[in-house]
Amino acid sequence: MTTIGNNLQRVRERIALACAAAQRPVKEVTLLAVSKTFGPEAVRAAHAAGQTAFGENYIQEAVEKMALLADLPLQWHCIGPVQANKTRLVATHFDWVHTVDRLKIAQRLSDQRPTDAPPLQVCIQVNIDASPTKAGVSPEAAGPLAQAVAQLPRLLLRGIMVIPDATEMIAAHARQVRARALFDQIKAEIGTLDTLSMGMTADLESAIACGSTMVRVGTAIFGVRPAAT
Ligand SMILES: *Cc1c(COP(=O)(O)O)cnc(C)c1O
Repeated sequence: MTTIGNNLQRVRERIALACAAAQRPVKEVTLLAVSKTFGPEAVRAAHAAGQTAFGENYIQEAVEKMALLADLPLQWHCIGPVQANKTRLVATHFDWVHTVDRLKIAQRLSDQRPTDAPPLQVCIQVNIDASPTKAGVSPEAAGPLAQAVAQLPRLLLRGIMVIPDATEMIAAHARQVRARALFDQIKAEIGTLDTLSMGMTADLESAIACGSTMVRVGTAIFGVRPAAT
C-alpha cells in the first residue's frame, strides 16, 4: 500500500477508537481529507485507498486540481476563506462550503449556484474562541445567520464549522464542548442540521468525544505541508 494509503488506514483507526471510547457509531463521523498544497497525485492515491471527500483552502489551487481529477467521482469541500470575488468559482466547482460567515457571501453563493447542480451544502463558520483575529461569526450571531441562510433557495444548510485554537488542549476541549452545545441549540430551531465540522490532525479524538460529525484531517494523511511563503 502507498504511504498515503497507510496513513489513511491509521486515521480511520484513530476515528474508530475515538468513536468506541465515546460510545458513538463510527458511521456518525465523516472523514474529510484536507489536500491543500498537495498535488493531484496525492489525491489520486487517497482515492485509490477509498477516500472520496476532499477539503481545500485556496480556491484557485483547488479548481486547477479538480480539472486534473475530473475523471474521479470526488466530493469537494471549501474550508478556506471565501472573498466576494471568488464566490462564483466556489458556487460553480464545490459541493460544500464550511466557511460561510456573512449573509452577503451566502446570498452570492446561492445566486451563483448553477441551476443544473444540486444545492450547495454549507456550514456556518463560528468563531468559537471569540478571538478578534479569527474568521467566523460570533457564537451569539450564529443562530440568526443560520436562520437567514436556511431561507436561501440554492443552498442547503448542513451545520456549523469551528477551528478551536488547539495550542492549549484543555481550553480547546472546553471550546469543543461549547461548539457542540451551540450546534444543538441551533439544531433545535433548524431540525435538518446534521453536521458539526470540528477536529483536525491534532485534536480529532477530543472533537469526536465532544460530538463532532466531520473531522478535517490533512497532515496525518498527506504529511507535513511546506511552510507558506
Ligand atoms: C489545514 C486545515 C485543516 C487540516 O489541518 P491538519 O492539522 O493538517 O490536519 C483542517 N481545517 C482547516 C480549516 C484547515 O485550514
